[in-house]
Order: sequence, then C-alpha cells, then structure tokens
Amino acid sequence: MSRSLAEVAAEASTCTRCRLAEGRTQVVFGVGNPAADLMFIGEAPGFHEDRQGEPFVGAAGQLLTRMLGEIDLRREDVYIANVLRCRPPGNRDPLPDEIEACTPWLIETISIVQPIVLVTLGNFATKFVLNTERGITSMRGGVYGWHGRRVIPTFHPAAILHGGGEKSRQFLDLQDDFALIRKTLHAVPEPPPPSPAAAPEQRVGDEQLELF
Ligand code: URA
Repeated sequence: MSRSLAEVAAEASTCTRCRLAEGRTQVVFGVGNPAADLMFIGEAPGFHEDRQGEPFVGAAGQLLTRMLGEIDLRREDVYIANVLRCRPPGNRDPLPDEIEACTPWLIETISIVQPIVLVTLGNFATKFVLNTERGITSMRGGVYGWHGRRVIPTFHPAAILHGGGEKSRQFLDLQDDFALIRKTLHAVPEPPPPSPAAAPEQRVGDEQLELF
C-alpha cells in the first residue's frame, strides 16, 4: 500500500542521502493539493524556499502564483515540487549524484499525487524529466507523453524575471504555455499515442512506467 505524502515528507525531512543535507535550513519537500491533476516541477529551492520550507515562495514563485491565477487556479489547487529538495549552496546547479539521491522522493511524490499534467519549469527540470538534451526554447509549446501523463515544458519564472520581465517575448510565450496547460487539463484524458520522434506528443521513458 502506498504511503501518504505526509508520511513521505516526514521521512524526507531528515534525509541525509547527499551533501546538501549539511548546508540546508530544512528540506523543501513540496506543497499543494496531494491529489492535484496538475503538478509543477522546478529545479531546486533557493534562499527563501530554504528558509520558509516551501517551494516557489520568492520572486519567481510570485510570478508562478500569478500565472496560475491567469488560468483560474490557486497554489492550493496544484502540487509544486522541485527536482531537488534541498538548496544547493549559492544556488549552484544540482550535481548528478544529488539528483540521483533525490529522484526517489520525486518518483514517490508523482506516484502518490498521480497528476494528469506535469509542467516542467525551465531547462533543468525539462531535460531531467523528459531525458532530453533539447533546450527549453525548442521544447516549450508542446505536449509530451510520459508514463501515461502529459508533460508541458515552459520557461522557469526566474528566467523571465531575469530576461526582460513582462515586456519580453518569453513572457508572451509563458502566457501561451499557461493557456496550453489550461486547455490540456480540460481536454484530458486519453494518453497520447506512441511516436518515435523527439517531437510533441512523443512518449518518453516507457521502460520506467511501472514506477508510477
Ligand atoms: N526556483 C526553483 O526552481 N524552485 C524553487 O522552489 C524556487 C526557485
């Protein structure tokens, strides 16, 4: 029988599987509706998240919350997590062994929440989840099949804030991506058909299907 998210989060709160345990204030497990249809995956907690114990509470999080509002959703309606649950020092990029150590928490989270649509925020989460080398600029705008779910990659809100904000081309793309999220959520349910090419609606990583 599967555990509850609260049980998993309680175990994760004392995790020492990688070096990031030494520098963190606390584990940032995830937040939101444990039965959400929509789940967001970012990279790793930053300064504010490490202090407050909740993902996406800084400036990038405020933009994420606002974009949710644009499609009539609140943070409480969705589930929000990161590839890593602990803040890397100085917000450096996650290292491969840290990702490997943290992946079981993400897998267990997805298997409990059972989201229909996953949104990967930025290059890092997109490359990790979809196991691709393609960058976010080429991946965004599409819907990808993954373990019977749908993945919609979009820009990381921090990248929008650092790259011109609401006047930028990327912000318009972000708005389009959120409209796509809404449409996909309302369209659901049949998983997309298999397709060999690395193109939208492809299936990725079916060999791990039983994990979810
Ligand atoms: N950036 C992320 O990727 N995740 C957070 O939780 C905050 C900022």
